[in-house]
Amino acid sequence: MLLAVLEHDRGAMDEAAREALTAGRGLAAQMGVPLHAALIGADDAELVAEAGAFGAEAVYTVVGDVLADFGPEGWGEAVAELIRRLNPAAALAGGSERGNEVMAQVAARLDLPMVANCIDIQPDSGSGEWTMTRQQWGGSLLEDARLQSKLPLLTSGLHALAAQPADSPVAPVIQEMGVDLDPSLARTMVKDRVVLEAGVTLPTAPVVIGGGRGVGSAEAFAPLEELAGMLGGRVGCSRAVTNNGWRPHSDQVGQTGTRITPEIYIATGISGAIQHWVGAKASKHILAINIDPEANMVVKADWAVIADLHEMIPAITEEIKRRRA
Ligand SMILES: Cc1cc2nc3c(=O)[nH]c(=O)nc-3n(C[C@H](O)[C@H](O)[C@H](O)COP(=O)(O)OP(=O)(O)OC[C@H]3O[C@@H](n4cnc5c(N)ncnc54)[C@H](O)[C@@H]3O)c2cc1C
Repeated sequence: MLLAVLEHDRGAMDEAAREALTAGRGLAAQMGVPLHAALIGADDAELVAEAGAFGAEAVYTVVGDVLADFGPEGWGEAVAELIRRLNPAAALAGGSERGNEVMAQVAARLDLPMVANCIDIQPDSGSGEWTMTRQQWGGSLLEDARLQSKLPLLTSGLHALAAQPADSPVAPVIQEMGVDLDPSLARTMVKDRVVLEAGVTLPTAPVVIGGGRGVGSAEAFAPLEELAGMLGGRVGCSRAVTNNGWRPHSDQVGQTGTRITPEIYIATGISGAIQHWVGAKASKHILAINIDPEANMVVKADWAVIADLHEMIPAITEEIKRRRA
């Protein structure tokens, strides 16, 4: 079987886990093996049901004091122990920071190679070798790789594919796995969470209104805030903006900022440098507003308006108000 590791945060399944289940289901079908899942630090019926909705036929749960909250060492050893006992044909996690860290822990503990951020995985078809394409630098570089391993350990590229439930859900067999974990594994564990903001967050916002250097000042973001508020979204920005001190770093989209996945990203006054683009490209739709028809963001967007954002944003806001009235 192929073992997918289910990333969750205190019982809330992460999108990376759904992506791993989707990728794992396709891979398991190619290999002619069933898809099973590892659920670490929780035995929640809803998580199990969701794994079944994505086609997992069995879910192995491991709980205990060391797994009271997320910790890479505890999770890594728990998954490694499942692999020692179950001997899957391959194991796969989502390519999030946590997924990659856990799989790296597993690889070190089992002395096996691991390939991170894979977007196209071809299992061994008799040559003794797996092949895959990997995302590097947030997807701005694609790398073809070959892997010789008796048990491939992989993560799937984050947001490289849309999570898709199986055509017909299954009711997974649940197997509680008693695993003794050394208390010292709990030395790196999430102990607390600080809520920095209420409401919708930048990584999960359905609408992001992005502002770049073209916005011109901190005060000039007010119309973007108003439009984002009306659409239930968030304001994001480029690094030129954070460098100027107009917005906090937590608003920055890009390679050294946040990767966003909204239904629509309205990018205004942003040139679309590659470092910004890698954080924006998973948006389902992009509308660019820019005075430069040659700007990279304009060229790559689904739609573009060649106009001054200081006129365009209030005009969009007014039109929405008029239609809602
Ligand atoms: C290692 C490294 C990491 C980086 N990480 C990031 C990152 O995470 N995120 C990020 O964003 N950048 C990042 N950068 C910076 C990146 O290379 C660009 O410098 C930056 O994204 C440019 O920001 P900008 O598009 O706002 O500014 P500019 O490139 O100056 O573009 C401004 C745009 O506004 C348009 N404009 C001007 N006035 C108006 C107007 N009135 N109406 C409409 N349009 C107008 C212009 O035509 C232009 O296209 C990184 C760079 C490096 C080297």
